[in-house]
Amino acid sequence: MKRFTLIAWMVLVGLTTIHAQKSDSLATFTNTAKHEVVTIKQPKFKSKPKNIILFIGDGMGVAQVYAGLVANRGQLNINHMKHIGFIQTQSADRFVTDSGAGGTAIATGVRTYNGAIGVDINKQPVKSILQISDERGKATGLVSTSAITHATPASFIAHQPSRNMYEEIAADFLKTDIDIFIGGGEDHFTKRKDGRNLVEELRAKGYSVFSGLDEAQSIQKAPMAIFAAAEHTETYPNRGNMLPVATQKAIDVLKQDKKGFFLMVEGSQIDWGGHANSTPYIINEVLDMDIAVGKALEFAAQNRETLVIVTADHETGGMTINGGNYTAGTVTARYTTTDHSAVMVPVFAYGPGAEEFIGIYNNTDIFLKIKKLFGF
Ligand code: MG
Ligand code: ZN
Repeated sequence: MKRFTLIAWMVLVGLTTIHAQKSDSLATFTNTAKHEVVTIKQPKFKSKPKNIILFIGDGMGVAQVYAGLVANRGQLNINHMKHIGFIQTQSADRFVTDSGAGGTAIATGVRTYNGAIGVDINKQPVKSILQISDERGKATGLVSTSAITHATPASFIAHQPSRNMYEEIAADFLKTDIDIFIGGGEDHFTKRKDGRNLVEELRAKGYSVFSGLDEAQSIQKAPMAIFAAAEHTETYPNRGNMLPVATQKAIDVLKQDKKGFFLMVEGSQIDWGGHANSTPYIINEVLDMDIAVGKALEFAAQNRETLVIVTADHETGGMTINGGNYTAGTVTARYTTTDHSAVMVPVFAYGPGAEEFIGIYNNTDIFLKIKKLFGF
């Protein structure tokens, strides 16, 4: 018994040491690749937004934003967004939400159970702001660095009882008239158990379908689907400037619509950096999304009837920052979980209607505010 206790103690100490070493190597990050923020004015905006671009940083809490801010030497494009609020993220059945319930709350205004995609607690479909925008004649788009069938983008277009039903979610894209979508997940459209080839079906519906953004470079005509990966895109910077380029591409295609557009852009992998308790992963993904936000802000500043919103579905990692250096772009972080946390997450807004987004409110209010601003 005594020997057993000793061995157990040694194993425990060993594991703790390994764990501590692992977290230490991932705790601190020095960003050598600073990006320049865009130069924009705060122009006289029109009274109502005709276009809305909604960014969701999956798992992006205040600490993640601040880590990006320090790593980029104190400047982010998000700093241009002067109207700031917080959303509470609790789901219908859990204090700590997942990205299915979190995405569905933002997309549809309905609080649902963890794992749900565009359905309420009774598993009944609820229309998303993207679908309502489409019905009211606006152009619509989705951009994501994960599979386009993954929980966050799926919440805006699909209605399925479980986020894991990727093939069913992919098939739901065919039931809509979405004008452009860019992301990973091509395999869920082509390598399917039911034998359907959804790429062929998209083409039959009039879509141009591309594998990679380069292929689509010279084409600006909707409808269009661009697959950036078979499943998820690589991590940043390995995937290159896919997210900023995809954001610009979506804007260029959607802005041709006379009645305006709704576009959701997701920085998907901030969440995965949080699950991995990896400061470099988180910061790289936050900075990549911030560059994409810069593209949207440049368009909005010049267009004057576009509202840009940047928010998150929840925080991931229970991240806090206990060391850093603005001059060097160094951040040291600690984590309290490898899962999501329950804290409020920030909302930043720029453009006509931005003042609606200040204060503390529910994630479901994002849907309601967009709907009201669009006059639906
Ligand atoms: Mg996501
Ligand atoms: Zn997550």
